Amino acid sequence: ATPTAIMVASGTGASHGVLIKGGDALEKAHKVKTVVFDKTGTLTVGKPVVVSAVLFSKFSMVEFYDMATAVEANSEHPIAKAFVEHARKLHQQKFESHTKAVSEVMDFEVHLGAGVGGKVGDRKVLVGNKRLMHASNVPIRPEVERYISQNECRARTCVLVSIDGAVAGAFSVSDPVKPEAGRVISFLHSMGISSIMVTGDNRTTATAIADEVGILTVFAETDPLGKADKIKELQMKGMTVAMVGDGINDSPALAAADVGMAIGAGTDIAIEAADIVLIKSSLEDVITAIDLSRKTMFRIR
Ligand code: ADP
Ligand code: MG
Repeated sequence: ATPTAIMVASGTGASHGVLIKGGDALEKAHKVKTVVFDKTGTLTVGKPVVVSAVLFSKFSMVEFYDMATAVEANSEHPIAKAFVEHARKLHQQKFESHTKAVSEVMDFEVHLGAGVGGKVGDRKVLVGNKRLMHASNVPIRPEVERYISQNECRARTCVLVSIDGAVAGAFSVSDPVKPEAGRVISFLHSMGISSIMVTGDNRTTATAIADEVGILTVFAETDPLGKADKIKELQMKGMTVAMVGDGINDSPALAAADVGMAIGAGTDIAIEAADIVLIKSSLEDVITAIDLSRKTMFRIR
């Protein structure tokens, strides 16, 4: 396309809340045959709520919440925010006081796409998925497995909390899909574009969400670099690939994709890594962007 055509298209995009960072993305977007969607915060609203919690150990409910909250309070992850909020509400209900001091955490660590950890007093606390527990040699007993599978097949994400190397409790969160998600995926299909889900979450939960929105191909339990590898694999098959994501964990994939699209409400790092920013955070604008590219490219031929 001519520089003028690109300038005009960028202006049109901007007026629709589709921020295009360069001519390159605009020129490639019309060739996109596959759109890879992140799950949490991209296909889903990204505001999970805690819907259940259980104890599996000698620790009291108060101790469990104290230690888990101490660690999660340091995380930016939407699951962490949901848990902290849930704990705050519980405390408020129970003690009718609004504020509870959160315990201090030492050696806070982030395991991208798996969870977080740290020391609370002299106890080592981990909050995250099964993969995190396996990596830290924390055994998962049958009763814990049962809680996990019961929740995952209902599209909920399960989070395990280990204290000193044993699972002390768990909670599950529910994060509804965005209202437009199914519509957008079926519209993309009608444009000859297939949709794929890639997520750090487990296979059962991911598949349940994919079913809700009409996505047939799911890559689950993928870490941030694994997400980028999936993009590269598709590209090696000769496909032009778009990636839509919102998190730090999506930034390598956003950078690897031919067209990286960041959700406007997402993290700064994702927005930086992307070629296109969907300011309104609506998935409809994935179509707007591709459409704009098609119109721009075909006008000059
Ligand atoms: P997605 O790819 O769906 O956006 P992430 O890669 O951010 O998901 O996270 C993958 C999984 O890692 C989550 O589903 C959750 O089980 C776990 N996880 C990551 N960070 C946290 C955290 N702060 N607290 C609890 N669980 C976490
Ligand atoms: Mg996400």
